[in-house]
Amino acid sequence: MALFTYKRSDGSTINIEYDPDAPCNICGEPIRRLSTAGPNICPWCDIGQCRYCGVNMTMISSTRGGGRSLQQWPQHMKYHKLPEPQTDPLR
Ligand SMILES: [Zn+2]
Ligand SMILES: [Zn+2]
Repeated sequence: MALFTYKRSDGSTINIEYDPDAPCNICGEPIRRLSTAGPNICPWCDIGQCRYCGVNMTMISSTRGGGRSLQQWPQHMKYHKLPEPQTDPLR
């Protein structure tokens, strides 16, 4: 477990305990750090950016229907898990 210090608008802080290995609700990756979006959203999804390549979430998603973009995001994450293609152009 890890601690996240959340600053409230009145200047006081509260410590929230969270599990850094818990999967993010959107991308399915471990959240690592807590974001202000909530305990189950990683900071990268909070700002809508891929943690691996930095691409904006809206860039890879179809703009038609918000539900569809969230379906494509885990596929994008899977793409980063694939091993590098072993292509040899001289073969
Ligand atoms: Zn995420
Ligand atoms: Zn990416």
